[in-house]
Amino acid sequence: MHTDLVAALDIGGTKIAGALVDGGGGLLLRAQRPTPARQDGETVMRAVEEVLGELTASPLWGGVGAVGIGSAGPVDATAGTVSPVNVPGWRDYPLVARVRAAAGDLPVVLIGDGVAIAAAEHWQGAARGHDNALCMVVSTGVGGGLVIGGRVHPGPTGNAGHIGHISVDLDGDPCPCGARGCVERIASGPNIARRALDNGWRPGPDGDTSAAAVAAAARAGDPVAVASFERAARALAAGIAATATLVEIDIAVIGGGVAKAGEVLLAPLRRALTEYATLSFVQRLAVVPARMGTDAGLVGAAAAALARRADTAVAGV
Ligand SMILES: [Zn+2]
Repeated sequence: MHTDLVAALDIGGTKIAGALVDGGGGLLLRAQRPTPARQDGETVMRAVEEVLGELTASPLWGGVGAVGIGSAGPVDATAGTVSPVNVPGWRDYPLVARVRAAAGDLPVVLIGDGVAIAAAEHWQGAARGHDNALCMVVSTGVGGGLVIGGRVHPGPTGNAGHIGHISVDLDGDPCPCGARGCVERIASGPNIARRALDNGWRPGPDGDTSAAAVAAAARAGDPVAVASFERAARALAAGIAATATLVEIDIAVIGGGVAKAGEVLLAPLRRALTEYATLSFVQRLAVVPARMGTDAGLVGAAAAALARRADTAVAGV
């Protein structure tokens, strides 16, 4: 009988995933529903409760001591609420209280999805063994999380490390967040594709205008496609260099769909880093691809819950 289990929830704009996870990070039982993102908040919550219901019905549930939630952001871990950009029915939604009620009053810990990815990469992935790391997701958006001094650093509200909305272009294009020239506004998949199209790149016969198609064109030597990835790489490099200079990270881990472009993105990114990460203490910064796959959000949420269990045990509560 397992007695050191946690439940993990990974809540995104397209799916709600759940799992029972053991102390070694093994996923023992999974449940999943599509996110009814365009429906009202209660309908979304019902999908979460269905996922939790599959977990609580398991004979393993008796060994579960905490629940970890990694959610699309912004989140507010202090208030226990979430306002995911892609789930309009949830604004300041009291997710922690609702999950606690559905989970038999267990402790519930909430972190942003970028922080969850960082927790997962630090525990089992590419940042393992690194006490100071930035882990990023470059996809439809750009997110991230920090490991500082050997521990994941969620910040008071659970959003720390959100590198996608650092401005790297003072007079750049307006970003949906309200600022200008954000890393995400330049380096996200849709923005890589948009810039390539604006500058004359045209898709193949299949009409695919995704960043993956731009990456394929770049790999084949299309100069406009190459330039769009280089611009994204420079934005990422400037953001990574700023982060390294502020908090002294020694590794940046890059995952997400756009990172699947591999060296099309990473080679210009490493070149640009030599331009922006110039001080002696950031010059040895490594940039590596993420190792965790689609379970990263669940594994990270589980890591946060296990850390809470450990803290609670130490405090004797
Ligand atoms: Zn922004």
